[in-house]
Amino acid sequence: MISSPRNVRKICCIGAGYVGGPTCAVIADKNPDIEVTVVDLNEARIRAWNTDDLPVYEPELLKYVKSARDGADGERSPNLFFSTDVDAAVRAADLIFISVNTPTKYTGTGAGHACDLGYVESATRKIAEVSESDKIVIEKSTVPCKTAETIREILAATGRPGVRFEILSNPEFLAEGTAINDLLHPDRILIGSLRSERGFQAAEVLSSVYAAWIPRDRIMTINLWSSELTKIAANALLAQRISSVNALSAICEATGADIDEVAYACGKDTRIGPRMLKASVGFGGSCFKKDILSLAYISDTLHLPEVAAYWRSVVDINEYQKDRFTRRITKCLYHSLTNKRIAILGFAYKKNTGDTRETAAISVVNSLVLEQADIRIYDPRVKEEQIWQDLKATASDITLLKRRVSVCTSAYEACTDSHAAVILTEWDEFSNKDHSTTQGNSPPTATNGTAEDGNLSSRMDWQHVAGLMKKPMFVFDGRNVVDVDKLEALGFRVECIGKSGTP
Ligand code: NAD
Repeated sequence: MISSPRNVRKICCIGAGYVGGPTCAVIADKNPDIEVTVVDLNEARIRAWNTDDLPVYEPELLKYVKSARDGADGERSPNLFFSTDVDAAVRAADLIFISVNTPTKYTGTGAGHACDLGYVESATRKIAEVSESDKIVIEKSTVPCKTAETIREILAATGRPGVRFEILSNPEFLAEGTAINDLLHPDRILIGSLRSERGFQAAEVLSSVYAAWIPRDRIMTINLWSSELTKIAANALLAQRISSVNALSAICEATGADIDEVAYACGKDTRIGPRMLKASVGFGGSCFKKDILSLAYISDTLHLPEVAAYWRSVVDINEYQKDRFTRRITKCLYHSLTNKRIAILGFAYKKNTGDTRETAAISVVNSLVLEQADIRIYDPRVKEEQIWQDLKATASDITLLKRRVSVCTSAYEACTDSHAAVILTEWDEFSNKDHSTTQGNSPPTATNGTAEDGNLSSRMDWQHVAGLMKKPMFVFDGRNVVDVDKLEALGFRVECIGKSGTP
C-alpha cells in the first residue's frame, strides 16, 4: 500500500465525464510530477478530450487541459492523458478515482427510485480483475451511504490474492458552469476513510494530492459513511432551498408580492444567507433530482416513510413549478397555442454549461408541442443533435415533435414572427439588466451560484427583437433575468417567476 504521499506517481480516473475530466485537469495541472490518466469506455468522448473541442463546456477548462495534456506553456512535460485503455491505466495507478455515472433506476418495488450502482460495480470489478499491486480506490461518484462496503466486498471477493485495497470517499462538490473555479477554490475537500491506521494513511496520501493547491484547513478527513452521506445531504439541502423559494413564488404571483424582493430580504438574514434563493422555472441537472430520490429511497428502506415523503416533496414542487410555468404561457396567450410560434431561449439546464440533463426546457417544450405550438429553440452552447436527442427520448408523439420543433442558430432567428419568447436558461446574452449598478426598485437578486457578469457586447438587442415579433409580444422569463420596466417600455408584456406580470 502507498503509505507516503511522496510515493504517488500515477493516478487513474475511471469516467471522463463532467466530473472526471475537469477534476483531473486541475489535479494534473497542480501536480506536475504525477501522471494522471482519465479513462472511459466511450471512445467518442475520449477522442474529443484529446482535441481542443472538448466534450464538456466549462469556462477556463480548455486552458487547464491544454496546460497539462499538451504541456502548452512549454515549461512542463505533459502529465494528463485521456485513453480508452482502462486495464493499462488501472494496472499502473497508485490511486484510482471511480467517477462513473450513478443514474436513477426505477426499482418497481414500491420504494421507488434508487441509485443505479451498476457502473460503479463494473468499474470496481475491473479494478479487482487487473490490479497486480496495492491500490487506493476513491469513490468520486455520488453514491448512497455504505457503498464503500459493497466496493470492499467486490474487491475482496474478486481481487488477486495478496493485493490490498484501501477505499476512500471523496465526493465532488463542483457545480457545472463554475467547475474550474470550484475546483481551484473549493469550500472544502471531504475525504472519508475507515477509522483504522491504513484508512488514515490512505486519507493522508490523497490529502497530499489536494494540498498542492488547497490550504490544509480546507481538507477535512472524516468517517467514510459520513462522507458518503454528506454529498447527498448537501445536494438535497441545496435543492430544498430552490423548491422553498419556488413554492413562495407561487404565493407571490397570486398576491402581488415580488419573489426577488422577498428572497433578497430573507437572504439578508445571516442565518439564511443569499445563495440558492433564486426563483426559477425549476432546477435541472443530473444531480439534484437523482440524489433526492436516492435519499428518499434510502429513507424508505430504513423504514422512515415520513422522511422519504419530506424529501420527495422537494422534487414534487420542482415538477409543479415547471407545469405551472407552462400553464401560465397557455393562459396568457389566450388559452390557445395552436400554430402560435414560440421562441425558446436557452435549452441548457443553467448558463455556462452545455449540459441538458433534466433541464426544465425538455418538459416545457414537450408540453407546448402537445398544445400544437410551433417551437423555435436557440441555445448558444447546446448542439442541435443534443436537443433532438433529449426531445425524442421524452416526447409522447415523435411525428408531432418533428413537425412542430426547429432549432435556430440565433436568438433573433428564433424570435422572428414569434408570439412569445420564453427564457429558460439564464445566459447573459438574454439579459437586459444593468449588472454594474443596483437595479432600481428590484433589489440585487439572490443567486444560485457564483455571479459572473456577462459580456455586454454580446447581449441581445431587445429593441431589435421588438421589431421581429408578432403583436402583442410576450416574454415569459423563467429565470428572472430581464429588466421588466425596460422591456415594457419597448411594448413587451412580461411574465416573470414570482411576480404578478404586466397588467
Ligand atoms: P458523466 O455521465 O458525464 O460521466 C461518467 C462517465 O463514466 C461516462 O463517460 C461513462 O462512459 C463512463 N463510464 C461508466 N462506466 C464506466 C466503466 N466501467 N469504465 C469506464 N468508463 C465508464 O457523469 P458525471 O456528470 O461526470 O458524474 C459522475 C459522478 O459524479 C456521478 O455520480 C454524479 O452524481 C457525480 N457528480 C456530478 C456532478 C455534476 O455536476 N455533473 C457534480 C458532483 C458529483
